[in-house]
Amino acid sequence: MLTTTKIYLSSPHMGGSEQKFVDEAFATNWIAPLGPNVDGFEHDIQQYLGDDAHVAVLSSGTAAIHLALQLLGVSKGDEVLCQSFTFSASANPIIYQGATPVFIDSEVDTWNMSPELLEIAILDRIERYKKPKAIIAVHLYGMPYKATEINAIAKKYDIPVVEDSAEAFGSFYHGKACGTLSDLGILSFNGNKIITTSGGGALITPNETLKDKAVFLSTQARDAAVHYEHSHIGFNYRMSNVLAGIGRGQMEVLDKHVALRRKNFNFYKEHLSKYASISFLEEPDGCFSNRWLTCIKTTSFELREQIRHILLEDAIESRPLWKPMHTQPIFKDCLHFTDGTSEALFETGLCLPSGSNLSSTDLDRILNNILKTPNL
Ligand SMILES: *Cc1c(COP(=O)(O)O)cnc(C)c1O
Repeated sequence: MLTTTKIYLSSPHMGGSEQKFVDEAFATNWIAPLGPNVDGFEHDIQQYLGDDAHVAVLSSGTAAIHLALQLLGVSKGDEVLCQSFTFSASANPIIYQGATPVFIDSEVDTWNMSPELLEIAILDRIERYKKPKAIIAVHLYGMPYKATEINAIAKKYDIPVVEDSAEAFGSFYHGKACGTLSDLGILSFNGNKIITTSGGGALITPNETLKDKAVFLSTQARDAAVHYEHSHIGFNYRMSNVLAGIGRGQMEVLDKHVALRRKNFNFYKEHLSKYASISFLEEPDGCFSNRWLTCIKTTSFELREQIRHILLEDAIESRPLWKPMHTQPIFKDCLHFTDGTSEALFETGLCLPSGSNLSSTDLDRILNNILKTPNL
């Protein structure tokens, strides 16, 4: 009997040198949340992002967002404006801080935070003496958000932006790397992301003092003393030197992975855009997306589900777009400024298999299945 191999949405893809760096960690006994791989990985990311980026590698992207909110002084009772169309990890750290999320809908050009709704929300909250403490904007699926507009509004009202670039390492906005478009950016190296350390993340800032503070907080906030002295509440959020070794190997193939993911997008687009019932998100001027996941928008929930089921029957994983946070049971009572954009995307959109390790045989198999959909 022929067994079909499962095709995943986005699976880890090692480049080759990862094992060498991990072996070095073992050979030198740097099995700790510090060591040459931690320093080396930070150096490599800094080199990639540009001269003014200071990087602290951490245990996860979620931890990086949590530390960013800490650094901004977000605390109990504060309100934080957050993109609704995202993964829950963008919003959860707001709750960790005892603060309250207020969700903002997306615009149709990038599927990210709408500058118009953002400003409406800020004015509303200021009028009610609840000036937001921070804004969390997300480059979803690798597509840069409208940073010029968002940053201008943030500056106008003097509210800091946390740039969730978990899905957008290798994406650029007018030539500037995503993750460096605001004072605090974050990356994720989870197993499904464009490069992975199995689990991990990073905080990025142009401000070296903030980087040092992030490292201090992420390593249990030990004051300078021979004994253990604490004047702050710390966290155990630093990245392991073993995992940073995987990261150093992955940095060697980041650009290759971006090219391969963009190639996947072009393959799907070339073969599917002739169908009126399927559309793709194009890059606005000045935007370069890493195309972390290729997403299609269909014309109905029923069609989206037909495609998903046809793929599933051949052991091919696909997934509806992110369910907006303001419609999640856990956040349903939160204030939100929405216009139906993200809800429509969730209803009709689908993420297709997008790994950089997909073979052309895999891509053909996925396409042939999609083409079996009746009434495409
Ligand atoms: C993956 C992801 C995160 C969280 O990163 P982890 O490393 O998994 O904690 C945050 N935001 C978005 C948009 C993500 O996709």
